[in-house]
This record gives sequence, structure tokens and C-alpha cells, in this order.
Amino acid sequence: MKILPDDTIAALATPPGEGAIAVIRLSGPRALEIADRAFRGRTPLAAARGFTVHHGRIVAPGGEELDECLATVFRSPRSYTGEDVVEVSCHGGFFVPGAVLDALVRSGARHAAPGEFTRRAFLNGKMDLSRAEAVAALIAARSDRARRASLAQLHGRLAGAVGELRDGMKSLCALLELDLDFAEEGLSVVKREEIVRKIGLIRARLEEMAGSFRQGRMYRDGISVVITGPPNAGKSSLFNALLKESRAIVTPVPGTTRDFLEESVMLGGILFSLRDTAGIRVAEDPVESAGIARAVESARGADIIVIVTEAGSAAGEAERVSRFLPLDDGHEVIFVTNKIDLVPGKPPGVSRMELGGRARTHVALSALTGGGVHALSEEMLNVVGSSGFSSDESLCVLSERHAASLLKGAGLLEGALRSLESGLTNEFVALDLREAVSALGEITGDVTSEDVLNSIFAEFCIGK
Ligand code: GDP
Repeated sequence: MKILPDDTIAALATPPGEGAIAVIRLSGPRALEIADRAFRGRTPLAAARGFTVHHGRIVAPGGEELDECLATVFRSPRSYTGEDVVEVSCHGGFFVPGAVLDALVRSGARHAAPGEFTRRAFLNGKMDLSRAEAVAALIAARSDRARRASLAQLHGRLAGAVGELRDGMKSLCALLELDLDFAEEGLSVVKREEIVRKIGLIRARLEEMAGSFRQGRMYRDGISVVITGPPNAGKSSLFNALLKESRAIVTPVPGTTRDFLEESVMLGGILFSLRDTAGIRVAEDPVESAGIARAVESARGADIIVIVTEAGSAAGEAERVSRFLPLDDGHEVIFVTNKIDLVPGKPPGVSRMELGGRARTHVALSALTGGGVHALSEEMLNVVGSSGFSSDESLCVLSERHAASLLKGAGLLEGALRSLESGLTNEFVALDLREAVSALGEITGDVTSEDVLNSIFAEFCIGK
């Protein structure tokens, strides 16, 4: 049973700082009564109908006017949270919204915890858990693809697909259990091959959906590109040249993080997260070099590794660097020869080069003049294309949690298939199926624990 909260919460729903308007949200059984203590309009909000906007003033408990504002009333259950909600639109800035919020709290509201509004929406059955998470994903979206994928999830695309698969498994369970009843009379109502086929189809679909997380993660966080190579090769210069190539730098808080610089940029409509591993030294005896460990660590999670060497550097330098990087973990590698402006007559361009038995892309460029930098960004986009990026964002899973539940479900179905193969009775098969139904229920929140909810909503910001 879901326990619904009986207190009323308040929080600033817009970002702090200077802005024309700020919105303060109030939600809970006493939202109208509390708002009326601080709001002076023509009529009390408690008498107002839902979806109405009221002009008035917000006053401090002592009666002093704090601001002129608009109050929008939403009546339970037709509100975001499903509770009575008042949204106060006051003037923005560093001081006013805080004073208005304070007046509402002093009138009886409690400061909301992170994600508490959306948590209440979930508890009140306004949205399933995957949709609640989509709200956070939509707000965090930094590219059009991330926005589209999050919006599809918010509109229930994932919940719908999961619901259908769960229904499919539930009816298979029912069939197996019916068969069990008949078996006592020496009869059988199901064809085993048919059950095997259906479970196989559902398992394949679960694996496919879980597999789409690679793409979803790229939409969400951008495609991670690590620029590495020996000192002085021009890594930082290339990093900056790629930033110039992009029309938009979308990193929310630019700056240095630990050993590297990171910026998120849009190239060709795709979000890339570029990392310049400045300061990493590839020593003559690389095993000795602590820098190598950092380079390797940085490259480990990357989707694309760009290895930069300078024109005229010792033959085999690129290969030497690459030997110490974890290149077999499914990364794409692009080799760059920089500073071609120093080699008379050498044109920028793309070629293929053989390395470690594999053909790799090689780009000759000059970070200084910019020649060939566009070709490199095109190659980065090609990598994206070749890793099976679908043009339909709405089909992909955006969260690690969802991917894990889908894989858990697929694993349980694998167990069910094994039970069938080894001739175990229907009870065993049905058991795995039921567990798989539960695993998928974790995605939508039909099956969930307080711990899971706490960790999901802790990721939200206050006011969401
Ligand atoms: P990092 O140590 O690999 O990050 O290298 P930097 O980007 O700091 O560059 C090292 C030196 O090479 C600097 O003096 C840059 O101006 C110079 N440099 C970088 N790229 C080019 C290039 O394309 N052509 C030329 N001529 N010099 C470059």
C-alpha cells in the first residue's frame, strides 16, 4: 500500500538568480489554506476553481508586502502531483523568491526534499516511475536527441513497451499453470515448442531494448572523446580547435576537472563530450610513467580515442602510445598527425592506416591553421553513424537502471528456456517467468522498494 503524505511542501521551481519571473510551488492537502495566509488577492484561493490565475500580493507573517505576484490554482487530483497545488509566480532575482518561499514556509509549509513533487506524482499514480525519471532526463537534456528521447519516455513509450512484454509473460504463465491443472488428468493444453518460441521472442526484445542503452547514454551524456598522445603533440590546441568547430559549447559548468579539461559541444547536431588529457606524459619507459595510468583510466570509458602525434615525430610513435591504451574495449580510435603546416606541401586529409592488424582512421591536420579539423569532426560523426545510431530516439533506453532490469528479465527468461529444454515441469518455468515479470515491474515502479525510490529521487533537484 502506498502511504500518501499529509504535509504540504514548498520549493522554488525555477533556477536561483536574476530572472524576470520565479515560480514557487506549493503542494499538499493544505496548499490553498497556507497560500491564503500569505496571499492577498481579490478572493481567497481556497474559494478558487482549478486552473485559475489570481493577481495579488504576497505578505510576510507580520503583514509587510513582499512582492506583487500571480497565483495559479490546481485542484486535486488534476495537478502535477495529484494534490492541491498553488504556483506563485513572483519576481525573480537573488532575494525576492527566497523571501516569498520563506513566507509560505512560515505560514505552514515544509521545504520540499529533492524530487519530492515528482515523487508525490508517482505515489498518487499520476505517472509511473519511468515517466517520473523522464522528467529528470528532460530537464537534464543538452541536445535535441536527448530531448526527443526523454519526451518519448515521458509520453510512456518505455512504460508501454514494458507493459506489453509483461502482459505477454503473464499470459504465458497463466497458460503453463492451466496446463499443470490438466496434467493431473493426463492432458496437455500447451505446445512446448510454442512456449519456447514465445519466450525466445520476448527475451530477444528485452536484450535489444537493453542494448539500446549504449545509444541512450550517448544521447544523454554525449559521445565521449578522449584526446591523448605525447606532450607537445598539440592535444590542447586540437581540443580548442574542435571547440571552435562547434557552434555551441553546452557544458553547464566549464572548467578544469582533476587532470583533464572537459567540454560538451555540438558537432553536426550530435552532443560530444571532449576531454583533453593535458599534462599526461608518455615516458620512454611507459610502464614507469604514472601519467600512462591516468591516460589509460581516462580512455577506458571513452567512446572515441583520438591519438595525436606531430608531423615528423619518430616513426611508430602513434603505435607506441596506442599500445598502452585499452583499445580493445570497443572504443573507436582515430589517429591524428598534427602540425602538418610545418611540412611543406602536405595536405590535410583522411586516410586509413594499419595498426595492430586493424585498419584505423588517420587524419592529417593542423590545429594551428584549422586545416583538416573539420575532417576530423566528420570522422567522429562517422563513428557515431557506424555504431548503429538509429534515427528514432524514441526507441532507446536512457537509464542504466532500466537497462539493468531489462537484462535481469532476459537472464530469467534464459533460465526458463533452460528449464524447458531439460524437461523440468511447468512450475519451474512459470517461476522464472514470474520473476522476469517482477524485474520489468521495477522499471515502471509496479514493483519497487523505498531504497530504490530514495536513490532515484535523490538525483532530482529541489522543486522538481
Ligand atoms: P599538448 O602538450 O599536446 O597539449 O600541446 P599544445 O597544444 O600545448 O601544443 C604544443 C605546442 O605546439 C604549442 O607551442 C602550440 O602552439 C604548437 N602547436 C600545436 N598545434 C600546432 C600546429 O598545428 N602547428 C604548429 N606549427 N604548431 C602547433
